[in-house]
Amino acid sequence: MKRLARSCYTKGGYVFARKAADSTLGAEKRVARLASNENPEGPSPLAIAAGKEALVTANRYPDETVENLTSALRSYYGDYTFVAGVGMDGVIETLIRTLVDPGETVGVSTPTFSFYRLAAEAQGARVVPVPRREDFSVDVDALVKSGKDAKIVFLCSPNNPTGNATPIDDVKKVLEGIDGILFLDNAYGEFSSIDYLSLMKKYENIIIGRTFSKVHSLAGLRIGYAFVPAWLQPYYMRAGTPFTVNSVSAAAASAALADPDHATRYVAQVEKWRKRFISGLKYRTLPSDANFVMVDVAPHTGDEIVEKLARCGVLVRSCRSFTGLSDHYIRVSVGEDWENEKFIRELNAV
Ligand code: PMP
Repeated sequence: MKRLARSCYTKGGYVFARKAADSTLGAEKRVARLASNENPEGPSPLAIAAGKEALVTANRYPDETVENLTSALRSYYGDYTFVAGVGMDGVIETLIRTLVDPGETVGVSTPTFSFYRLAAEAQGARVVPVPRREDFSVDVDALVKSGKDAKIVFLCSPNNPTGNATPIDDVKKVLEGIDGILFLDNAYGEFSSIDYLSLMKKYENIIIGRTFSKVHSLAGLRIGYAFVPAWLQPYYMRAGTPFTVNSVSAAAASAALADPDHATRYVAQVEKWRKRFISGLKYRTLPSDANFVMVDVAPHTGDEIVEKLARCGVLVRSCRSFTGLSDHYIRVSVGEDWENEKFIRELNAV
């Protein structure tokens, strides 16, 4: 019966990071979880209280317009148009469903987060990868040339896994050069000094994606959002799975925005440790605008290092699954002090 599965799923799918519960880990009890770019601090107490309160009325369907969340986002950021989804992954999936017919083109600046390609292929799109330069900066001319006719071009900034952000002027050139939409994935935007929001007022073909999974400590609640041009929002609502954002997640996320100190604490931790990773590791570590760094572990492969560190109770991510990247990189998130210290110690011992 396997022949009934769609061919886009017979080749493989999303590659998940190792989990702390993985039975092949060493005997270490206290595992440093640095593979998934999460905030190690639990959610804001305000988010927890709001989520608990929303659970009491979970017998009712949620508000399909998620007005509590979009109005919290407007109070926080100003007068923009927002859409929400089941993580930014859910937003990406719905946007592709909203905009891309089977056979149409989707451009992706690579190496990068794999879900753009997976979601686009699932919709029957033709995915055109556009490689970054050797230093991982975006080759703007190539992206414009290959993405000219694409319905959507995906550009991740700060980029997962390389960590670098794309200057605003380069983003403007892409917006002005392409005929379709630019999806600027800004999942790690809170850790970067580059703020792209001014572009929303000037261009009608930009979407900026954000998430509550990173700086806001709500990865388990699966809630993401995007700044969209006003014309797009009604179509997004039609294309989305009905009631896709649940009431507990929407309430908790709205409340998380009311606790900026919680986010600021982790941003400070990230700024401190990005520098320490660069100065403290014996391997070449790339500068980063995100809450993780990419480390060149040559002459070892990323897979070898991930296995070695896992045996010492340190979880990091191999970058092998990022198409277009050679196999000697790992990506490590900024965690708590003891996790970061343990990672530096164990990697330097290899
Ligand atoms: N974009 C990027 C660049 C990411 O790294 C991730 C998560 N790893 C996502 C989007 C998806 O985030 P979410 O948890 O909101 O689905």
